[in-house]
Amino acid sequence: MADLKARIEQFRFMAEANPNDELAFFSLGRALLESGDSAAAATAFTRVVEINPKMSKAYQLLAQAQLAAGQRDAAIATLQAGARVAHDRGDMMPKNDMLRSLKELGVEMPELASTETQTTLTEGEVLCKRCGLVKPRMARPPFSHATGLTIQQNVCADCWREWIAMGTKVINELRLPLSDPQAQKVFDQHMFEFLNLK
Ligand SMILES: [Zn+2]
Repeated sequence: MADLKARIEQFRFMAEANPNDELAFFSLGRALLESGDSAAAATAFTRVVEINPKMSKAYQLLAQAQLAAGQRDAAIATLQAGARVAHDRGDMMPKNDMLRSLKELGVEMPELASTETQTTLTEGEVLCKRCGLVKPRMARPPFSHATGLTIQQNVCADCWREWIAMGTKVINELRLPLSDPQAQKVFDQHMFEFLNLK
Protein backbone atom coordinates (compact mmCIF):
# COMPACT_ATOMS: atom_id res chain seq x y z
CA MET A 1 0.00 0.00 0.00
CA ALA A 2 2.89 2.33 0.79
CA ASP A 3 4.17 1.55 -2.70
CA LEU A 4 0.86 2.51 -4.22
CA LYS A 5 0.76 5.79 -2.32
CA ALA A 6 4.27 6.61 -3.47
CA ARG A 7 3.32 5.83 -7.07
CA ILE A 8 0.22 8.02 -6.88
CA GLU A 9 2.34 10.89 -5.58
CA GLN A 10 4.95 10.35 -8.28
CA PHE A 11 2.35 10.27 -11.07
CA ARG A 12 0.50 13.26 -9.64
CA PHE A 13 3.74 15.22 -9.53
CA MET A 14 4.46 14.30 -13.17
CA ALA A 15 0.92 15.16 -14.27
CA GLU A 16 1.04 18.54 -12.56
CA ALA A 17 4.46 19.27 -14.04
CA ASN A 18 3.23 18.51 -17.54
CA PRO A 19 -0.54 18.92 -17.97
CA ASN A 20 -0.40 17.50 -21.52
CA ASP A 21 1.32 14.26 -20.60
CA GLU A 22 -1.33 11.64 -21.33
CA LEU A 23 0.85 8.85 -20.00
CA ALA A 24 1.28 10.56 -16.62
CA PHE A 25 -2.50 11.05 -16.27
CA PHE A 26 -3.16 7.51 -17.47
CA SER A 27 -0.75 6.05 -14.91
CA LEU A 28 -2.16 8.32 -12.21
CA GLY A 29 -5.71 7.23 -13.05
CA ARG A 30 -4.80 3.59 -12.93
CA ALA A 31 -3.02 3.91 -9.59
CA LEU A 32 -5.97 5.85 -8.13
CA LEU A 33 -8.38 3.21 -9.41
CA GLU A 34 -6.25 0.56 -7.75
CA SER A 35 -6.31 2.55 -4.49
CA GLY A 36 -10.12 2.70 -4.57
CA ASP A 37 -10.31 6.47 -5.11
CA SER A 38 -12.56 6.11 -8.14
CA ALA A 39 -13.76 9.73 -8.29
CA ALA A 40 -10.17 11.03 -8.50
CA ALA A 41 -9.36 8.26 -11.02
CA ALA A 42 -12.28 9.43 -13.18
CA THR A 43 -10.88 12.98 -13.13
CA ALA A 44 -7.46 11.72 -14.26
CA PHE A 45 -8.87 9.57 -17.08
CA THR A 46 -11.09 12.45 -18.20
CA ARG A 47 -7.90 14.45 -18.71
CA VAL A 48 -6.39 11.56 -20.73
CA VAL A 49 -9.25 11.53 -23.23
CA GLU A 50 -9.09 15.32 -23.46
CA ILE A 51 -5.41 15.11 -24.37
CA ASN A 52 -5.79 12.06 -26.61
CA PRO A 53 -9.40 11.45 -27.71
CA LYS A 54 -8.31 8.38 -29.69
CA MET A 55 -7.04 6.32 -26.75
CA SER A 56 -9.81 3.76 -26.50
CA LYS A 57 -8.38 2.06 -23.42
CA ALA A 58 -8.70 5.34 -21.47
CA TYR A 59 -12.48 5.46 -22.12
CA GLN A 60 -12.78 1.90 -20.85
CA LEU A 61 -10.98 2.73 -17.60
CA LEU A 62 -12.79 6.08 -17.26
CA ALA A 63 -16.13 4.29 -17.47
CA GLN A 64 -14.93 1.75 -14.91
CA ALA A 65 -13.97 4.59 -12.55
CA GLN A 66 -17.26 6.42 -13.15
CA LEU A 67 -19.27 3.28 -12.44
CA ALA A 68 -17.33 2.67 -9.23
CA ALA A 69 -18.00 6.29 -8.24
CA GLY A 70 -21.71 5.85 -8.86
CA GLN A 71 -21.77 8.06 -11.98
CA ARG A 72 -23.89 5.74 -14.11
CA ASP A 73 -25.07 8.21 -16.76
CA ALA A 74 -21.57 9.59 -17.25
CA ALA A 75 -20.25 6.02 -17.56
CA ILE A 76 -22.80 5.20 -20.27
CA ALA A 77 -21.85 8.32 -22.25
CA THR A 78 -18.15 7.41 -21.88
CA LEU A 79 -18.74 3.83 -23.02
CA GLN A 80 -20.70 4.98 -26.06
CA ALA A 81 -18.01 7.46 -27.08
CA GLY A 82 -15.27 4.94 -26.33
CA ALA A 83 -16.87 2.08 -28.24
CA ARG A 84 -17.11 4.33 -31.28
CA VAL A 85 -13.46 5.39 -31.01
CA ALA A 86 -12.38 1.78 -30.56
CA HIS A 87 -14.53 0.72 -33.51
CA ASP A 88 -13.04 3.39 -35.79
CA ARG A 89 -9.52 2.46 -34.75
CA GLY A 90 -10.06 -1.29 -34.97
CA ASP A 91 -9.22 -1.77 -31.26
CA MET A 92 -11.25 -4.96 -30.99
CA MET A 93 -10.71 -5.87 -27.35
CA PRO A 94 -11.58 -2.50 -25.80
CA LYS A 95 -14.50 -2.22 -28.20
CA ASN A 96 -15.96 -5.61 -27.28
CA ASP A 97 -15.36 -4.97 -23.57
CA MET A 98 -17.17 -1.63 -23.75
CA LEU A 99 -20.07 -3.06 -25.76
CA ARG A 100 -20.38 -5.80 -23.14
CA SER A 101 -20.42 -3.22 -20.32
CA LEU A 102 -23.11 -1.22 -22.14
CA LYS A 103 -25.21 -4.34 -22.52
CA GLU A 104 -24.88 -5.03 -18.80
CA LEU A 105 -26.13 -1.48 -18.20
CA GLY A 106 -29.10 -2.16 -20.48
CA VAL A 107 -27.85 -0.01 -23.37
CA GLU A 108 -27.29 -1.43 -26.85
CA MET A 109 -25.25 -0.03 -29.72
CA PRO A 110 -26.49 -2.27 -32.55
CA GLU A 111 -24.64 -0.35 -35.27
CA LEU A 112 -21.36 -1.40 -33.66
CA ALA A 113 -22.45 -4.97 -32.96
CA SER A 114 -19.64 -7.18 -31.76
CA THR A 115 -17.68 -8.71 -34.60
CA GLU A 116 -16.14 -11.72 -32.94
CA THR A 117 -16.04 -14.04 -35.92
CA GLN A 118 -14.38 -17.37 -36.32
CA THR A 119 -11.14 -16.96 -38.19
CA THR A 120 -9.12 -19.85 -39.44
CA LEU A 121 -5.44 -19.17 -39.10
CA THR A 122 -2.82 -20.83 -41.18
CA GLU A 123 0.66 -21.69 -39.96
CA GLY A 124 2.70 -18.52 -39.52
CA GLU A 125 -0.34 -16.28 -38.91
CA VAL A 126 -1.61 -14.63 -35.77
CA LEU A 127 -4.96 -13.02 -34.90
CA CYS A 128 -3.49 -9.98 -33.21
CA LYS A 129 -5.11 -9.06 -29.87
CA ARG A 130 -4.17 -5.43 -30.32
CA CYS A 131 -5.18 -4.55 -33.88
CA GLY A 132 -7.70 -7.38 -34.33
CA LEU A 133 -6.24 -8.33 -37.72
CA VAL A 134 -4.83 -11.58 -39.05
CA LYS A 135 -1.18 -10.84 -39.73
CA PRO A 136 2.07 -12.72 -40.18
CA ARG A 137 3.42 -14.07 -36.92
CA MET A 138 6.79 -12.97 -35.54
CA ALA A 139 9.49 -15.42 -36.61
CA ARG A 140 10.51 -15.97 -33.00
CA PRO A 141 9.33 -14.89 -29.53
CA PRO A 142 10.64 -11.45 -28.54
CA PHE A 143 11.85 -12.83 -25.17
CA SER A 144 13.07 -16.24 -24.13
CA HIS A 145 10.69 -16.64 -21.17
CA ALA A 146 7.00 -17.59 -21.21
CA THR A 147 5.76 -14.04 -21.84
CA GLY A 148 7.73 -14.00 -25.08
CA LEU A 149 5.79 -16.98 -26.37
CA THR A 150 2.45 -15.44 -25.30
CA ILE A 151 3.35 -12.31 -27.24
CA GLN A 152 4.43 -14.24 -30.33
CA GLN A 153 1.13 -16.15 -30.28
CA ASN A 154 -1.11 -13.10 -29.72
CA VAL A 155 0.53 -10.02 -31.18
CA CYS A 156 1.53 -9.17 -34.75
CA ALA A 157 4.99 -7.90 -35.65
CA ASP A 158 3.68 -4.41 -36.49
CA CYS A 159 2.02 -3.93 -33.12
CA TRP A 160 5.10 -5.29 -31.39
CA ARG A 161 7.20 -2.66 -33.18
CA GLU A 162 4.74 0.02 -32.03
CA TRP A 163 5.15 -1.19 -28.47
CA ILE A 164 8.96 -1.01 -28.69
CA ALA A 165 8.62 2.69 -29.54
CA MET A 166 5.97 3.23 -26.85
CA GLY A 167 7.96 1.22 -24.30
CA THR A 168 10.95 3.50 -24.72
CA LYS A 169 8.66 6.45 -24.08
CA VAL A 170 7.26 4.75 -20.96
CA ILE A 171 10.75 4.14 -19.56
CA ASN A 172 11.84 7.71 -20.25
CA GLU A 173 8.70 9.46 -19.07
CA LEU A 174 8.16 7.40 -15.95
CA ARG A 175 11.93 7.27 -15.36
CA LEU A 176 11.69 3.58 -14.60
CA PRO A 177 14.83 1.95 -13.26
CA LEU A 178 14.27 -1.50 -14.75
CA SER A 179 16.67 -3.15 -12.32
CA ASP A 180 13.99 -2.44 -9.69
CA PRO A 181 11.37 -5.26 -9.69
CA GLN A 182 8.57 -2.79 -8.85
CA ALA A 183 9.49 -0.66 -11.87
CA GLN A 184 9.65 -3.78 -14.04
CA LYS A 185 6.11 -4.59 -12.88
CA VAL A 186 4.84 -1.14 -13.83
CA PHE A 187 6.53 -1.49 -17.21
CA ASP A 188 5.01 -4.93 -17.83
CA GLN A 189 1.55 -3.59 -16.90
CA HIS A 190 1.90 -0.88 -19.52
CA MET A 191 3.04 -3.46 -22.05
CA PHE A 192 0.14 -5.85 -21.41
CA GLU A 193 -2.32 -3.01 -21.58
CA PHE A 194 -0.85 -1.63 -24.77
CA LEU A 195 -0.89 -5.07 -26.40
CA ASN A 196 -4.36 -5.88 -25.05
CA LEU A 197 -3.14 -8.96 -23.23
CA LYS A 198 -4.49 -9.91 -19.82
ZN1 LIG B 1 -1.44 -6.13 -34.54
